[in-house]
Amino acid sequence: MSKVKYYYDPETLSYRKIERKKRRTAKYISMFVLASALFGFVFVFIASQYIESPKERALKRELANMQLQYELLNKKMDEAQSVLANIEERDNNIYRLYFEANPIPEEQRKAGFGGINRYKTLEGFDNSKLIIESNKRIDVLQKQIVIQSKSLDEIAKLAEEKEKLLSSIPAIQPVSNEDLTRMASGYGMRTDPFTKARKMHWGMDFTAPRGTPVYASGDGVITRADSNSSGYGRHIRIDHGYGYVSLYAHLYKYNVRRNQKVKRGDLIGFVGSTGRSEAPHLHYEVFKDDQRINPINFYYGSLSAEEFDELLKHASMENQSLD
Ligand SMILES: [Zn+2]
Repeated sequence: MSKVKYYYDPETLSYRKIERKKRRTAKYISMFVLASALFGFVFVFIASQYIESPKERALKRELANMQLQYELLNKKMDEAQSVLANIEERDNNIYRLYFEANPIPEEQRKAGFGGINRYKTLEGFDNSKLIIESNKRIDVLQKQIVIQSKSLDEIAKLAEEKEKLLSSIPAIQPVSNEDLTRMASGYGMRTDPFTKARKMHWGMDFTAPRGTPVYASGDGVITRADSNSSGYGRHIRIDHGYGYVSLYAHLYKYNVRRNQKVKRGDLIGFVGSTGRSEAPHLHYEVFKDDQRINPINFYYGSLSAEEFDELLKHASMENQSLD
């Protein structure tokens, strides 16, 4: 226990206990602690501006890695974009052109999203620009893919219809004519075998022995298989749709009935000489919208260019038809 010291206080004329020193010391100590704490705080604060903590270093590394990943993603988007551009070009210049669909304009394909700002929540950060730009690119890419996909759906539908049309039109010769010697008389002005007068021959005549198979020249429905049309004898008519009808005359026998569906190449009957016919042959006609047209223009699909030339030569010879 320390001694209690007193001093004389002249003002009060009494002795008082000395306590001041102790209080002053305590005051000094607390001031020192406060000052060093403040200094330490300022020092740490300043130092933190220049020296990174391990946590900061880790975050910085992570951020740098993220930026790198964004750049890599953008490169991948470049690649996807160029593949898509290639598909779009083929779509516009080949597929849509071939199927007579209008090309899709560039502005329509590359349209972004208008109206409200979809990227508002991404604004206000150091990396906002990078993130917003990447998002915009993805959005445009996505929209482009949707447009392309719809276009291909449309093309697929058109192709299906075209395929149906192509298999329906009467595009092959109705009898086997491999050496092209069966064509006796073509479409045009010919000498009538009975009256010897020149008149229009509305079809093509193929010479063939009685009983030679006759084939449907395109997909369709049998609308007639009878001999109730003057001159044609036993004959068949096929409605192919799209305005096309084919007719097979002077048959010996039928292999189909009325209302029966047939495919191109189906055996429908046999060559004969019924009706107004001079010798066994097949008289073949093609109608488009009720008008008779030259069937030779439809054989391109099954013949080479040379064969077609040869057939054309046979068909255009001014000879006597077999009717
Ligand atoms: Zn004829």
